[in-house]
Amino acid sequence: MSRDDVTQAEENAFVRFFERVNRQVEKAIGSPPISVGAEEEVPVALRLCPLCGHQMREHNIDESSANVIVHCPVPDDARRPSPAHHEPLGELGMPASAHRLEKLAKRE
Ligand SMILES: [Zn+2]
Repeated sequence: MSRDDVTQAEENAFVRFFERVNRQVEKAIGSPPISVGAEEEVPVALRLCPLCGHQMREHNIDESSANVIVHCPVPDDARRPSPAHHEPLGELGMPASAHRLEKLAKRE
């Protein structure tokens, strides 16, 4: 059954179901926080590049191919170094858990 096969009545039942769920959840946890708009969002053009620290509007964006390439205005060797991670990692490449750190300490 594809989405096109769903009748209006079924779709309404689906919507009513989630409206009921929302009402029950709202009773339990309260309504979502209302944003007051105090946090002004910085336009993308004025944000700083994580690689070179220059504003994004100074960058050259190559959209000629399927993979968009952003060229920094500074040479490769002048970019910020990648943050070094010296902490041990877990099996999945994430920071090691306390349990794993304990195991590693026993091995040494
Ligand atoms: Zn950059």
